[in-house]
Amino acid sequence: MAEAQRPTLLSLDDVLQRLLAVARERVLPDLEKVDTFDSLGRVLARSVVSALDVPPADNTSMDGYAMRAADVPVAGTVLPVSQRLPAGVVGQPLQPGTAVRIFTGAQVPAGADAVVMQEQCNAIDGDALGSVRIDAAPQPGQWVRRRGEDVQLGAEVLAAGTRITPQAMGLAASVGASRLTVRRRPRVALFSTGDELVMPGESLKPGAIYNSNRFTLRGLLLAAGCQVADLGIVPDRLDATRAALRTAAAGNDLILTSGGVSVGEEDHIKPAVKAEGWLEAWQVAMKPGKPLAFGAVRRDGGDSEALFMGLPGNPVSSFVTFLLAVAPVLRALQGCSTAMPAGLQVRADFDWPRPDRRREFLRARFNAQGGVELFPNQSSGVLTSAVWADGLVDLPPGQVVQRGDMVRLLPLSALIGA
Ligand code: AMP
Ligand code: MG
Repeated sequence: MAEAQRPTLLSLDDVLQRLLAVARERVLPDLEKVDTFDSLGRVLARSVVSALDVPPADNTSMDGYAMRAADVPVAGTVLPVSQRLPAGVVGQPLQPGTAVRIFTGAQVPAGADAVVMQEQCNAIDGDALGSVRIDAAPQPGQWVRRRGEDVQLGAEVLAAGTRITPQAMGLAASVGASRLTVRRRPRVALFSTGDELVMPGESLKPGAIYNSNRFTLRGLLLAAGCQVADLGIVPDRLDATRAALRTAAAGNDLILTSGGVSVGEEDHIKPAVKAEGWLEAWQVAMKPGKPLAFGAVRRDGGDSEALFMGLPGNPVSSFVTFLLAVAPVLRALQGCSTAMPAGLQVRADFDWPRPDRRREFLRARFNAQGGVELFPNQSSGVLTSAVWADGLVDLPPGQVVQRGDMVRLLPLSALIGA
């Protein structure tokens, strides 16, 4: 195509700005209380504030003996043993001039200020609990975990807008939070277009391919905390596409489709969305990707609507477009604080001599030397590249890369489910 006839390309940043402006007006209003136990992947609508110090009291991080450091001025000091304290047992205040047999996690008794690990002590049998020879003079504070050293009373441990990771579940539990207030999960209707698509398990007739996007997108939606309504494969016909959109709009916040957003005669998504609601059809200056349809579909009655996003059909295009355009919308709908994860500066262990005029997202992987290498085939149909990769190298339009240059990497682990 001659330069003049090329459609205007929008930058991904401009597209994101538009998407987020719409999504932020539609943050899901419904809040739910969930058990912390079942909160993985949910987004907090209210922050978690600690009503206690963690740990709640000084305790020992070693099995050994607790004492006043001043009572053991030199290695080899012998002290009588006055108490035995397993974890969970609260002892008496320390009698000065004695040692306390103590086990990891037990509260250090009042008056004791140091613990000597058992490997540096020798128990001596005798009356009652006997005595102990301490073979290393302790520093005050040694092996003592201080009250509140992890969390202090009144501290906000998890802010509203945080997605609950496994470690956040643990942190909430550590401050005693048994229930969390989260946003409702986004409800997303998903369908694929394409008369060539068949499902795994079906026979592959001539001209057919297996529907991989249905699986990739389902996985991405589940990882993003969504409730997925799968509407299967919709035939490449306008009436069927319109009917599928109407069904999808009922009861869902977002309709997500793959395929059928180009300008071919068999691409019915855009006219169908236009007829059922409103549409912005974009050509985005990104590779893979480019065609992206955004809009909304009216619900019955017409006074409410479901958002719509139509992804390109090529498997890597739909994967990358989801991560860079759909995932931020889903995060915004859930009131998530981060729209996009930060990228890393990494060393390119590859050359990229012929860049595209679009911003490119190259499938790349770390090597053992701390640089990144590229999957040899960067075609938008090669899904193998997306499984092989650790991340996407984010190359500005027209950017030539020489081995050793620093480039920006977006880790897939941060993009998926973040
Ligand atoms: P389209 O965007 O419909 O023109 O499709 C672009 C390319 O992606 C074509 O080669 C399609 O066969 C392929 N494709 C579309 N949808 C899927 C899908 N769900 N799974 C795998 N490949 C697909
Ligand atoms: Mg198609």
